[in-house]
Amino acid sequence: MESADVVIAGGGIMGCALAYQLAKRNVDVLLLERETLGSQSTGKCAGGVRQQFSMEANVRLQRMSVKLLEGFEEETGQPADFRQIGYLFVLTLPQQVEDFRHNMEMWHRVGLTEARWVDAAEASRMVPVLNVDDVLGCTFCPTDGIASPADVTSGYAAAARRHGARLKEGVEVIGIDISSGRVQGVRTSEGEVATRLVLNCAGAWSPSIGRMAGLEIPVLPYRRHIAVTGPFPAVPRTSPMTVDFRTSLYFHPEGDGVLIGMSDREEPPGFASDVNWDFLAKMFQEAARRAPALAGAGIKTAWAGLYESTPDHQAILGAVPELEGFWCAAGFSGHGFMQAPAAALLLSQVLLDRSSEIDIAPFAFERFAKGSLVKEKNVI
Ligand SMILES: Cc1cc2nc3c(=O)[nH]c(=O)nc-3n(C[C@H](O)[C@H](O)[C@H](O)COP(=O)(O)OP(=O)(O)OC[C@H]3O[C@@H](n4cnc5c(N)ncnc54)[C@H](O)[C@@H]3O)c2cc1C
Repeated sequence: MESADVVIAGGGIMGCALAYQLAKRNVDVLLLERETLGSQSTGKCAGGVRQQFSMEANVRLQRMSVKLLEGFEEETGQPADFRQIGYLFVLTLPQQVEDFRHNMEMWHRVGLTEARWVDAAEASRMVPVLNVDDVLGCTFCPTDGIASPADVTSGYAAAARRHGARLKEGVEVIGIDISSGRVQGVRTSEGEVATRLVLNCAGAWSPSIGRMAGLEIPVLPYRRHIAVTGPFPAVPRTSPMTVDFRTSLYFHPEGDGVLIGMSDREEPPGFASDVNWDFLAKMFQEAARRAPALAGAGIKTAWAGLYESTPDHQAILGAVPELEGFWCAAGFSGHGFMQAPAAALLLSQVLLDRSSEIDIAPFAFERFAKGSLVKEKNVI
């Protein structure tokens, strides 16, 4: 029977980053992906990387991810295409300004000193297509930006393989063997694997891996859309990622066009991931309000993918105490691409050293049972 020290279920950005961090430290890793690496939420994502969160733990995690992405090519030998064009949060409600004033104090306290306020006039100079008529203020962080989900995932996957990890595509985890109160192995579409540690990195599907072990992982799938326009010189490649915080509309340069996204906050959870063109029409209405020039931009391509949301919009990282040998790195609630580099490094430290450079206790599974949930508010 095949065996591995660790079996990672799921080969999105999280599984691949974790495979790399563990294999680099000589752990015998087997990653199983039922589709192809990075083809699900990771492959549908907008590539945004930001540090402007409302929860201090997320800011600390993200500062580490930014550093890791800055050094990505040196570390893995492959570029991340990380372009630090900054993130501009556009605020139009007094309560948002109040909340972001608190955020700004916290950001500076934890060392994100480059984040700053931008008034409507400056925002208009930074993003000339922006309608700033109702803008009360903006926050801007120049070290935020966008990176390539495909490059980062394949960079981690290739580096993991160089360190000896086995990454298999087209293999589904279908069961988890438990005896003597702990994980003993996994059953897969290609046979059984003996292992004493399963890492659930199955994103929106992480609850189904949990159910195989009798565990309830509180993650729900939400469809999210993106459209990319044809060439659009009015939004140059240096233009920041711009977020209209009230509507969740965001846009950033993508090639010589613009990538536009928005959350449909009314759609209930579900696994549908086809494009809802009626919703895209609404998204373009909002785009036309916030950046009137975008109204005339034709859609070159559009797609939808799944957010994997927890009740507090924070990831679940670490051991699940109910079952020895079962760990989770899932439920990133729409910010998993940017969080995976740091999450993987920190999890590998907790696993191998019993402590990590940054405390990941705020992401512990136990918080759901305790009911001590504090929501991350800056979710787009
Ligand atoms: C439209 C959109 C825009 C987004 N924009 C951003 C952004 O700008 N920045 C950001 O940080 N995040 C963004 N996200 C969120 C981000 O894509 C996710 O948080 C992240 O990709 C999650 O990575 P993951 O590895 O946990 O999950 P996934 O990439 O979904 O990987 C999980 C993998 O598990 C596999 N799997 C499932 N079940 C099994 C099984 N039984 N056996 C084997 N394999 C299995 C799946 O096939 C899948 O490949 C966006 C998401 C969407 C949909």
